[in-house]
Amino acid sequence: MTKRDYYEVLGVPKNASKADIKRAYRKLALKYHPDRNKGPEAAEKFKEVSEAYAVLSDDKKRAQYDQYGHADFDQMYSQEDIFRTANAKDFEDIFEDMGFGFGGDPFGGMFGSLFGQMFRGGAGGRRREAGADLEVRIEITLEEAAEGAKKDIAYHHSKACPRCRGSGNEPGTSAKQCDKCRGRGQVKQARRAGPMSFYTVTTCPKCRGQGSIAENPCRECGGAGKTSAAEHIKVDIPAGIQSGMRLHMAGLGEYGKDRPGDLFVRVYIAPHDKFERDGNDLWINVPISFARAALGGEIDVPTLFSKAKLHVPSGTQSHTVFRLRDEGMPRLHGSGKGDEMVRVIVKVPEKLSRKQKKLLKEFEGERQERGFFDIF
Ligand SMILES: [Zn+2]
Ligand SMILES: [Zn+2]
Repeated sequence: MTKRDYYEVLGVPKNASKADIKRAYRKLALKYHPDRNKGPEAAEKFKEVSEAYAVLSDDKKRAQYDQYGHADFDQMYSQEDIFRTANAKDFEDIFEDMGFGFGGDPFGGMFGSLFGQMFRGGAGGRRREAGADLEVRIEITLEEAAEGAKKDIAYHHSKACPRCRGSGNEPGTSAKQCDKCRGRGQVKQARRAGPMSFYTVTTCPKCRGQGSIAENPCRECGGAGKTSAAEHIKVDIPAGIQSGMRLHMAGLGEYGKDRPGDLFVRVYIAPHDKFERDGNDLWINVPISFARAALGGEIDVPTLFSKAKLHVPSGTQSHTVFRLRDEGMPRLHGSGKGDEMVRVIVKVPEKLSRKQKKLLKEFEGERQERGFFDIF
């Protein structure tokens, strides 16, 4: 869930003074305080405005929020962190001022339990059970990465048991409520953190969060409600994918009573015999003869799917790099392509015919006459 902007929540401008912020919060807290407002959304609103105030009334947090924005700020502080490190005295003053009071115990009284309630994540009930995520790995070729591909993937995951349809009970029977948690699936412990009390809610150990215990466990799955199943899927690999990226397949992971987990397909690209990839560029080493490098001319250069002509100027040195525009990898989810980088490697012949030897000796003779040193 994306949170609303804190300034918007309190209805104040970005440059509001501390006094303005306090005034705005008092007004909203009075409006939404659950002791006064029994509307269904009041508690949520009260939590929202209190969180916004806790952040904007704190110089350091306000500066961080202004600098980083909501998404990054949320990475730094959980809602519990925000309240745990809030200025208790300030909240206490505001609430006593409004006549709600803290009942002599500013940390454990009404306010604490109110926030405790909020942190339970709504009204009691069985813990929501999501299935675990799965990851499978596949390897593709560089050509497949360049063009995009459809790949068949076979893997195992758990599915709802067909006999009990996920309930864990023999067909025709039902579970009885767990007596330890009275069907809630959770047991809670109070814990104090700074100005607020928090309830640590843990999964009921007796029913493992189910809230109920099967009296006649399903014979097929032993009461687990799930069985392992083979699965075949087709995955679309987008053109331009980089090695090691994950594709997210929602809902194809392990079975969960409320929601299945997700499947992540991690894609690796096998090394290529000619090309090396660097971002969207492809690098290749192309050998050319000593004579071609000296005289210059056109050479054939392999591209990923075909070949191209490359003009090499006369006097080209070994390891010179030439760029073939748009012969690289396509940009993922974008337009255009990277380039192909051609590194020419000048080969010195290992064997020479008699005639070649003669010609090279003539060449060398002329070179020395013209006063070149051996290092050239
Ligand atoms: Zn079953
Ligand atoms: Zn239980």
